[in-house]
Formats: sequence, structure tokens, C-alpha cells
Amino acid sequence: MYKQIVIIGAGPAGLLLARLLHNRGIECIILENRNEPFLRELNRGGFLEKEIVRTLVEEKASKKILAKGISITQIDIHINGEKHAIPLASTPNKTAIIYDQKNIVADLLESIKADEIPIIFEAKAQRYESLDGDKVKIIYTLDGQLYDINCDYVVGCDGYRGISRRSIPRHAITEKKEELPYAWLEWITEGTPSSAHPIMAFHKTGFAMQIINANQQTRYYLQIKRGTEKDDLPPQKEIWDILEKRLGVQVARGEMFHQKLDYMRSFHTDTMQYKRLMIAGDAAHQVPRLGSKGINMAFKDVILLADAFYHLYKKETNSHLENYTKQCLESHLKTIAYTNFLNQLFHKNEDEIPAKQATDIQQLLTDENKKQEFIQFLIGF
Ligand SMILES: Cc1cc2nc3c(=O)[nH]c(=O)nc-3n(C[C@H](O)[C@H](O)[C@H](O)COP(=O)(O)OP(=O)(O)OC[C@H]3O[C@@H](n4cnc5c(N)ncnc54)[C@H](O)[C@@H]3O)c2cc1C
Repeated sequence: MYKQIVIIGAGPAGLLLARLLHNRGIECIILENRNEPFLRELNRGGFLEKEIVRTLVEEKASKKILAKGISITQIDIHINGEKHAIPLASTPNKTAIIYDQKNIVADLLESIKADEIPIIFEAKAQRYESLDGDKVKIIYTLDGQLYDINCDYVVGCDGYRGISRRSIPRHAITEKKEELPYAWLEWITEGTPSSAHPIMAFHKTGFAMQIINANQQTRYYLQIKRGTEKDDLPPQKEIWDILEKRLGVQVARGEMFHQKLDYMRSFHTDTMQYKRLMIAGDAAHQVPRLGSKGINMAFKDVILLADAFYHLYKKETNSHLENYTKQCLESHLKTIAYTNFLNQLFHKNEDEIPAKQATDIQQLLTDENKKQEFIQFLIGF
């Protein structure tokens, strides 16, 4: 089999790339290691920048986002229980939208199936051959059998642990990685939150957050020590008590669904292409979770990449493809730096809160330039 582009991975990045390529008349296929129900069940948040929302609508990638997504017009920052409101935008269509990954993936799958864009589930890419030849050969397994497929370019949208980044020779790639000293405990509870606006709480005992999701449930996040295991967690009542203390509000306690412990890392590579292999999304970068930039960055990569392939195949110029890494980095470095700053700012990293951290938090609330930078970061630089 031959396709112009083979996409490895049907996460948000791979699915949107397939949609964009198809819209531009470029042939592609997705190979995905997991089965479809697994992808549909992954329960992760999504806080989408306004330009990303516009693209999803214009490219017919999500039919339901405007109807089901929740426009965020204000963020409440609670400092040791005291509320400070930060308005994001005066009108809903000028701001970010909350629309969970589960919903995004479901909409993308629906749009891909409607147009019969090929996708093979439970197909695991094993290795790439002839990356420096005229065509790449991808070897993959399906039902215990080996298969291959040829293409002009392979795009690794296969996440942080995928094979694509690791297929770039060590001498050709630079990586920056930091494991952060804290983790998050997160869960979902049925019913809407105590406030319509997301609450980000900085408390002397640690970070907490409350946010509605697109299914009218509430997501809660609590900073915990890195290394905490499920068995080390306090009883549920105590978890709710800690949450309320940090948020400074009473919440409607209920059953905790999708409870997860999540470690934080900051990682990115300056090398997003090697010969006929491109990488996008979490394969190339992972940012700490506060700010919800993972999915936005993944989408920005594939929007640039689809444009680069369009110029290659339809305008016969490969300059966009050659500039892919440079363009991505131009877009991402500011986001990565601000995400790291924000995460540092809101988490308790030492026994005593350093004076600089306390000053920076105050400035975020009082200095108009800092406030605007925060707003632009959330809505999209
Ligand atoms: C618990 C958790 C919560 C999160 N919450 C948020 C949030 O609230 N907001 C936010 O913006 N981001 C969040 N993120 C980050 C966000 O999920 C990622 O940034 C996003 O999924 C990246 O999309 P992706 O398509 O690049 O990679 P992924 O979603 O990782 O998809 C990669 C795909 O590649 C497949 N794959 C891997 N190897 C192979 C192979 N060899 N062959 C074939 N297929 C393969 C995988 O099965 C997977 O489906 C969260 C992440 C986690 C872990």
C-alpha cells in the first residue's frame, strides 16, 4: 500500500491532521495502536484557545463545539481563600472554550468516518525504514502479523512515549526535560461547580482548581507530593476537606469518578523533523498541566504541518516544510516559558513560600500588564 502521508497515532493531533490533509486533497492514513473505545473513553480536560476553536469549526473537525463548549469569560483566582476575579473577555466568541478531549476526539472521529478517511486501529508502528530515501517504509503489527506501508512522509503524532521521536538519531536531536517536584490528584464529580467561573487557588498548603466540563460535571485538581501512590491517599472526606480549605469555598461533595494521579514534566525538543519524518503534539513537547496548553500546542503543530504539505503538494514549494520546526518553535517557546512560570507560581514548591513567589502572585492581580499577559496566554497569544 502507498499513501502520500502516514500518520502514526489517533490522539487529538493525528486526528486533526488527517482532517486537515483530507480537506486539502492530500491522501493520508492513520495507524493507531489502541482500539476505538479506548480512545473515546480517555477523560482529559480541554481549554481551547479561540483561534483553535475557529479552526475546528471552519475545517469541519467538530460539529458540536460551539453548541456544547463552555465559553470562559472570567477566571477567579483565590489567594489563601480570598477571591480575585479576572475577566477574560466581554463576549463569549472572543474567548477560550472548555470542551473536553473526549468530546473533541468523538467529534473528530465522527468527521473522519463521515468522509471515509482511512484509519486502522490496533495497528502498532514498529519502525521506519529509508527515512532518507524517496519513500519511507513503515513496518507495523496488526493481529500479531507484520505489515508494511510506503509513503512520502511519516508524521509521528504518537505521544510522549511513541517511537517517532526515538527514531531520530541521538546526534540529530536536542531535548530539554525537567521532572517537576509535585503531582496532581484529579477527579470528576457529577453536577455543576460552586462557581460558573473556573477557580485557580493558590494556598499556603498547595494548589487547587475547580472547573466545569462540557458535560456539566465538575473537575477538581489538588496538588500532592510527587511519589504519592493511590494507597497513600487520605480518606475521601479528608481530600474534600483539603480541597475546600484551599479553594476557600464549599463544594457539592459527591462520588469521585476518574480519579487520577498525574506527575508533571516540562519537556520539549528543538528537532521536530528529520528527513522524511515529522513529529507533532506530545511527541515533541509536554508542558505542566496548569494552563491546559498540551492540546492547543498539538493542534498548532498540525495546523502548520497541513499548510506545509499543502504548499508542497499543491504549490510545489517545500520551503514551508523546511521551516516547520522553526515555525512551531516560534509559536511554542513563549507558551512553554509562560506555562512553566504559571505552574511555578501557583504550586507550593518549598516548605516556606519564597518572597518572590508571593510578590509575583500579587503582581498578577495588581499590575495591568501582567494581568493582560495572563489573559492573552489563556485565550491564545
Ligand atoms: C491525565 C492527563 C490529563 C490531561 N489533561 C489535559 C488538559 O486538561 N488540557 C490539555 O490541554 N491537555 C491535557 N493533557 C495533555 C493532552 O492530553 C495532550 O497534550 C494531548 O493528548 C496530545 O495529543 P497528541 O495527539 O499529541 O498525543 P496523544 O494524545 O498522546 O496521542 C498519541 C496516540 O498515539 C498512539 N500511539 C503511540 N505509539 C504508537 C505506535 N507505535 N503506533 C501507533 N499508534 C501509537 C497512542 O495510542 C495515542 O492514541 C492531559 C494529559 C494527561 C495524561
